[in-house]
Amino acid sequence: MKAFKRAESNGFIIPDLTLESAYFENTNCKILDGKKLSNNFVQQSQALISARKIPCLAVILVGSDPASKVYVNNKIKIFKEAGFLSKSFILNEADYSEQDIINLIISLNKDENIDGILVQLPLPKKYNSINILNTIDSHKDVDGFLAHNMGSLATGEFNTAIACTPFGVMVLLHAYGIQLAGKHAVVIGRSNIVGKPMGLLLLSDDATVTLAHSKTKNLKEICKSADVIVAAAGQPEILTSDYVSNGAIVVDVGIHRKIDGKLCGDVHSSVKEKASALTPVPGGVGPMTIAMLLLNTALSAWDLINKKEK
Ligand code: NAD
Repeated sequence: MKAFKRAESNGFIIPDLTLESAYFENTNCKILDGKKLSNNFVQQSQALISARKIPCLAVILVGSDPASKVYVNNKIKIFKEAGFLSKSFILNEADYSEQDIINLIISLNKDENIDGILVQLPLPKKYNSINILNTIDSHKDVDGFLAHNMGSLATGEFNTAIACTPFGVMVLLHAYGIQLAGKHAVVIGRSNIVGKPMGLLLLSDDATVTLAHSKTKNLKEICKSADVIVAAAGQPEILTSDYVSNGAIVVDVGIHRKIDGKLCGDVHSSVKEKASALTPVPGGVGPMTIAMLLLNTALSAWDLINKKEK
C-alpha cells in the first residue's frame, strides 16, 4: 500500500489478518474487524515510543455537541492507552471569539511540546471553520485536512498526514489482503474529509474509482458493477442488498444513532447476505479512524527528529 510508506519508515507495519475467519452470524460475509486492527496499532505505538519522544496531541473542542464530546473522549482514551500525551481545550462558545481560537492555535503551533492539533468538527455556526483550520501549521495537521496535506495525497507523495478515516479504511483492506489493482471501487460521498481522499487513496493502489454523490444518477447500477463499495453518504442504511453484487467487499463509514438508541451505518444489514466482507458498525471504520490519528500524531512527532538526525 503506497500511502503507508511514511508510517513504514517510522517502524509501523500493517499486520496480516488474512487468516482471520470471523463471519457475521449465519452468513458467508467476513467481518473486517477494525477494533482488532486498531488495538494492534495501539500496541505498536506503545512499543515504538519506548525509544522515542512521546507524542502529544492538542484537542480543541468548542461548544456542547454531545456526539463531539463522545468522539473527543474516545480519542483521548486511546491516546492514554497508547502511552501518548494529550492536552484538551474544552471551550465555551459564548466566551471565545473566532480570533481567540485562532490565537490559541497560533500559540500551539509555536509550542515544541505539541506535535499535533485537532479541532473537533463541526464547529458551532458562528465560526468560520476554514479560517480556523487554515491557521494550523500543516506539519501539525494530524487530521490531514489542510490543502497542503491533501495536495501531497493527490500527487502521490504521501509525505504528510493522510485524512484518518480513508487512511484507516485502506489499512483495514490491506490487512485483510484485499487486492485493489484493477478492481472497480465505488465511493458513495465526495466530502473533503472522507469521499475525496478515499477516492485518491484507492486510485493510488490502482483501483478504477467512481466517486458517487447526491447528484449521481443510476447509483444502484453503478454500485452493482463494483468489486469494492465504500459507503460514506451519511444516510442511515441507504445501501441495501439490491445495490450490491455477490462477493463484493463493502466498507461502512457511516455512524448514526437510531430511535431505539442502537448504532447503525450507511449499510443495511441485508448486505451481509451478498457481500463477501463488510466492516461492522460499531467496531469497523470508527476505531481505525482513531488508530490513524494516533499514527499521524506519532509521525508528526518523529519525522522532525528523523530529519534532524539525517
Ligand atoms: P458529508 O455530509 O460531508 O458528505 C456526505 C456525502 O454523501 C456528500 O458528498 C453527498 O453528496 C453524498 N450523499 C449524500 N446523500 C447521498 C445519496 N443519497 N446518494 C449518494 N450520495 C449521497 O459527510 P462526511 O463527513 O463525508 O461523512 C459521511 C458519513 O461518515 C457520516 O455518517 C459521518 O458521520 C461518517 N463518518 C464516520 C467516521 C468514522 O470514524 N467512522 C468519520 C467521519 C465521518
